[in-house]
Amino acid sequence: MEGSMSPIDRTPSASKRSRPNEERDAKFYFMGGDIVLSAPDEGGIIIYFRVHASKLSQYSTVFREKLASMTAYDVCLYDDVALVELKDDANDLRDFINILYGPLFNDDSWSSTVKASVYAPALKLAIKYQADPLIQRLTPIVAQLWPNKLDDWDKLEDDIGATMKNTPPGTTINDISPDPAPAIRLGHDCNLPQLLPIAYYHLSRLYTDADSDKVDPDWQPPVLVGSFWTARPRRSCLSRRSLLSNYDKEIVALGRERMTRWMAKQAWQVFHQWTCQSGKCHNLGVYTFWCELQMDIMTRMDILSTLRDTMNRVHDVHSNGGYVCSPCRGLIESRLGDIREKFFTILPLFFNMGHWDPEL
Ligand SMILES: [Zn+2]
Repeated sequence: MEGSMSPIDRTPSASKRSRPNEERDAKFYFMGGDIVLSAPDEGGIIIYFRVHASKLSQYSTVFREKLASMTAYDVCLYDDVALVELKDDANDLRDFINILYGPLFNDDSWSSTVKASVYAPALKLAIKYQADPLIQRLTPIVAQLWPNKLDDWDKLEDDIGATMKNTPPGTTINDISPDPAPAIRLGHDCNLPQLLPIAYYHLSRLYTDADSDKVDPDWQPPVLVGSFWTARPRRSCLSRRSLLSNYDKEIVALGRERMTRWMAKQAWQVFHQWTCQSGKCHNLGVYTFWCELQMDIMTRMDILSTLRDTMNRVHDVHSNGGYVCSPCRGLIESRLGDIREKFFTILPLFFNMGHWDPEL
């Protein structure tokens, strides 16, 4: 009697059947690839990516050295090729591979095919794995998405708003506008603190329950009754809040408090006991701007957008009837502009970066 295994047991695929707690990546599992990278996702499921060792070696110093040092004796196999087990978040690794295989290095039409939230996690792993060509390509893109100059921020907001109006059907704001949570992780993990203030700011104006780990991609915020001005699409962005530490969540809560109180005080200083510049203002005419400003800030929690919209509204002589004279409009607009500049300058302080002076 031969002690051989049954034909079923000898089938090669029998030992490689997927277990419930692991799966091959739906997009990056090239059958022609000669190396498999594995990483756990946020639920602990191990995700396998089958890629090309030559590609990894070409772009990453760390992978080049690791792959060169691997020998047949110490290599585990998965699906008959070498397996490298990584501890990175599988979503981050997917973004890194997305850039590695994406059009970023092929032509210049890349931006329309890569989601905006891919860049920060990809840069984080590019720095970790010393993938210098990726670092050089991604750093200016990430800096542009999380700018530290007010003009650049306004341009980005305008560009994203304009892009949303011309996107193909099925595109959501989350394809165009980057998630602040991975940018905050990148800022902390890779010592890029210059990304943090505006990333915290953007997070602070999003709905706390708009958590992409918990709600569907087509989640929509409630309609804001009483908001005077244009709906801004970025206010309805989702964020992967599981990436945030408790410290980050506290900092955003603190920032909201400080920003709102600071702004209320500035508005009070501008508007209380207003003296008309020409004597032609209708009694109490300017105070409607104050009311609308406060109301919109409390409704949208987006001080930079609200100030900008208020300045446009003050500038527009058709708003507010003929109750406010032209010199008063000019003065209000200029004072709100100064507040907005100062707000952006001290943005890091709201989020506990630097010394906070309550009398600011
Ligand atoms: Zn006046």
